[in-house]
Amino acid sequence: MPQILIDIKKLYKQFNLSSSIWSSKKRVIPAVNNVDLQIYKGETLGLVGESGCGKSTLARLITLLEKPSSGSIYFKGENIFTYNREELKFYRRNVQLIFQDPYSSLNPRKSAAGIIKEPLVIHRIGNKASRQEAVVELMTKVGLSKQQANRYPHEFSGGQRQRIGIARALVLRPQLIIADEPVSALDMSIQAQILNLLKDLKQDFGLTYLFISHDLNVIRHMSDRVAVMYLGRIVELAQNNEIYNRPLHPYTRMLLSAVPSCVPDGKKKIASIKGEAAKENDNGCDFQNRCPYRVEICSEQTPILKEVDNYGFCACHLTGSI
Ligand code: SF4
Repeated sequence: MPQILIDIKKLYKQFNLSSSIWSSKKRVIPAVNNVDLQIYKGETLGLVGESGCGKSTLARLITLLEKPSSGSIYFKGENIFTYNREELKFYRRNVQLIFQDPYSSLNPRKSAAGIIKEPLVIHRIGNKASRQEAVVELMTKVGLSKQQANRYPHEFSGGQRQRIGIARALVLRPQLIIADEPVSALDMSIQAQILNLLKDLKQDFGLTYLFISHDLNVIRHMSDRVAVMYLGRIVELAQNNEIYNRPLHPYTRMLLSAVPSCVPDGKKKIASIKGEAAKENDNGCDFQNRCPYRVEICSEQTPILKEVDNYGFCACHLTGSI
C-alpha cells in the first residue's frame, strides 16, 4: 500500500461575492467543495479542469496561502491547520510551489543567485559559502550555468526564468512540489523541455508532485493518477491510462473530446464546452446543465465520488450505465 503524504478530508472553501455592483447582497461561491483526496508519496497526481474550477484554490489551501472554510489537510498524519510555529516552519520547508508565471513570481531586483538562495536565508539554513554552493549545484541541475548566477530575471528567457523558479522551489529539499500550470505561460517548444526537466528532478530528488493544468496533454505526459475537477468538486479520479482510455464521467469525456492534439495557434487547450456551467439551484449534480445524459435524479441529488470496481472513483448517478 503506498504511503499517504497528503490526506485531504472534506475540504471546503467558499468566497462571498457581491451579486452586482448595485447590490449589497452576497453570493456564496464554493471554490473547493467537500474535496476528499490523497496524494501518495512518490507519485505525480495530475489535477485537471477548466480555468476557474478551483484547482489553484486547492493549491493555495495546501500551501497555507488560504484558510479553508471547513475541512482538514493531513501531512504525514498531522492536521496542518493545527500546527504550532515550529511545525508550520517544517511544513513550509517540505511543501513548495512552482508558479505559472515565472516572470511575476521572481523578484526583479534580485539576481538569480539571490532568488534561489532566499529560502535558505529565510529559514536560516547554512552560511554564505554553503548557500552559494547550493545555488551553483541547483543552477546546474536545472540547466543553467553558474556564470548566469549574477544576472537579473529580465536578462533570462521565459523558460530560463521558470528554471530559476524550479531551483528556488528545490533549494529547501522539499518532499512535495505543487506545480500550478508551470508551463502554460511558455512557448510550446520550451514546454516539453521544462516538463522533462521536472520528470528528471522528481527522480533525482525523490519528489512527490501535485501537477495542476488545464491541458490534458500535459497532464497525460506527467501524471501517474489523474483527478478531474469541476466547479470545485473532484468528479473522477483514476490511474492515468484509465482516465484517457476509459473515461467514465460525462465531463471527463467532454474534456477529452474537446482537446485538439494540435491547433493553428500552436497551443493545446481545452476547447470551450457548450452549456452554462452554473446551476439554477443548489440541488443535484453540478454538471446537469451541460450533461447530455441528465435524468430526473440528476437535478435532485448531488452524486458523490464512489469507488468503481477495478477502476478508480467517479461522481455520477449513471456510472456504469452510460
Ligand atoms: Fe450527468 Fe447526471 Fe451524471 Fe451529473 S449525475 S454527470 S447530470 S448523468
